[in-house]
Amino acid sequence: MRSFTGIAVSPGISVGRLRVVDRRRINISEYPILPEEVTREIERLTVAIADTRVELEHLKSHLAETTGEDHLFFIETHLMILSDERLFSETSATIASGLINAESALQRTLQRYREAFASIEDAYLRERINDVETVIERVFKSMSGEKTEQFPIHESRSIVAAHDITPADMLQIDRNNVLAVITEIGGRTSHTAILARALEIPAVAGVEGVCDVLLDGSPVIVDGTAGTVIVNPDRETFQTFLSRKQHYEYVESELLKTAHLPAVTLDGHAISLRGNVEIPEEGASVLKHGGIGVGLYRTEILFMNRSEMPDEDEQYFLYHSMQQAIKPHPLTVRTLDAGGDKLLEGLDHTAEQNPALGVRAIRLSLGMPYEFKKQLRAILRISAEGPVRIMFPMISGIDEVRAATALLEEAKLELADAGIPFDSGIKVGIMIEIPAAVTMADLLAKEVDFFSVGTNDLIQYTLAIDRTNEQLSQLYQPLHPAVLRSLRHIVDAAHNAGIEACLCGEMAGDPLYLPVLLGLGFDELSMGAGSLLRVKQILRRCTRKRALQIAAGCFDYSTAAEVEMYLKRQITLDVAESFD
Ligand code: PEP
Ligand code: MG
Repeated sequence: MRSFTGIAVSPGISVGRLRVVDRRRINISEYPILPEEVTREIERLTVAIADTRVELEHLKSHLAETTGEDHLFFIETHLMILSDERLFSETSATIASGLINAESALQRTLQRYREAFASIEDAYLRERINDVETVIERVFKSMSGEKTEQFPIHESRSIVAAHDITPADMLQIDRNNVLAVITEIGGRTSHTAILARALEIPAVAGVEGVCDVLLDGSPVIVDGTAGTVIVNPDRETFQTFLSRKQHYEYVESELLKTAHLPAVTLDGHAISLRGNVEIPEEGASVLKHGGIGVGLYRTEILFMNRSEMPDEDEQYFLYHSMQQAIKPHPLTVRTLDAGGDKLLEGLDHTAEQNPALGVRAIRLSLGMPYEFKKQLRAILRISAEGPVRIMFPMISGIDEVRAATALLEEAKLELADAGIPFDSGIKVGIMIEIPAAVTMADLLAKEVDFFSVGTNDLIQYTLAIDRTNEQLSQLYQPLHPAVLRSLRHIVDAAHNAGIEACLCGEMAGDPLYLPVLLGLGFDELSMGAGSLLRVKQILRRCTRKRALQIAAGCFDYSTAAEVEMYLKRQITLDVAESFD
């Protein structure tokens, strides 16, 4: 028996036979060339890039026919990487200046990409290097004349282990045969991981040594919830995991049976439970888990990994596919929340001493009205086709709201002039995630149609705790009295002005906080699809009356630890069986 520990990227337990797929990278050797051979090498590069594009386009139409349009976003991303001007220009410059073959020049370009990505703080963005590597790997293969093979799994009950599994591989996997996937590289936020979750295939990443050919064909257990892989399990281990698997599947299937049930308390109080999404693939999962639409669509992804800003049509098509994925439910589109640690290559960000307090989100958008209006028009255009709300991130005062809504009005006029339809009464909301916005929530509430609290940032700014600094994670406390008081203040201000109070930070997806958020009076909670059913389960076992009592009780305590202890006591008393 051999156990491996990796990163749990997609939950669920599978038992099957290990199929080691050899997808190792091609070995690149460097050799010198003569000055007169430069043109030939650049030509080889040009042809390889063009061939790779054709290959990806073919794959795209093949997948569109076999898997449907929903999952094509990854291929689009790869096509965009391939179009990055620097891929060609830097590589051909290296060929000419270094007098080396095209493969090794491309290898150096890849190394520069790796270095640039490694310095990115945001884990999601950092892992986008996997997409760049996948694309460049295809170009290498094209230069060597090798074809990138289809994912070759035909045996039933297979568990695929590979050095890397690309999103395109993931889409081609025959889900009747493949029960789980294991990779040696990658992490939780890679596109492959996102797809594995969207396709509900258990997956563990970062499992070094699992691709040993000697293990091929061995019985294996994959626990995508714990991040464990066990090859050749002994009888006892096998039995343990089998019962764990049965328990997991039982809980999941019982929860799924509740997907259609309304999000309503025992005493008839309804709130909206919605999903947080970044790519259209997640829309189906939100619906399956009973979400009634999207409370937060983060639009940053489209703007990343590219040297130019996306044009209006490209934005429109992407937002439109998200809308299709969750129709007929409402879609809340947040305008670009870039800057800070999410730098865009297409923009000339100046280095900042305090990026979290710098030119990010609405500040960035207001500084580039031409680009901002492109996004606003794209969002407005989908509003003609279904319910859409628009939301501005990181609002710190009235001026920003007014400037943003003025640009929205201009965008509306431009569309109207061009005879393009849109919902003229589109609801406009703001994210409340800066303490100043909390303090003046009463004034802000008069300007907009809804609030959505971004607790991830609100906690960061209220407690002055960098949300990305793991050394401070103990101090990042959602139940800190200052945070709870802020939440209470926000809801009261919204309701006094007759507008909705929503919450879309990670706090919404933790069942422990549900009674508090319900008791504080939130009208909508938006969270990752995987959290929806557990949160709804607690909601349906609660009464509003009891939640009001529990929330009020939190304010009797003066530290986060005390509040948490109090809350757990109340929950244990009320709904102990929900926390198994
Ligand atoms: C938040 O800050 O809570 C939020 C939802 O936005 P993001 O995590 O994208 O900053
Ligand atoms: Mg935020």
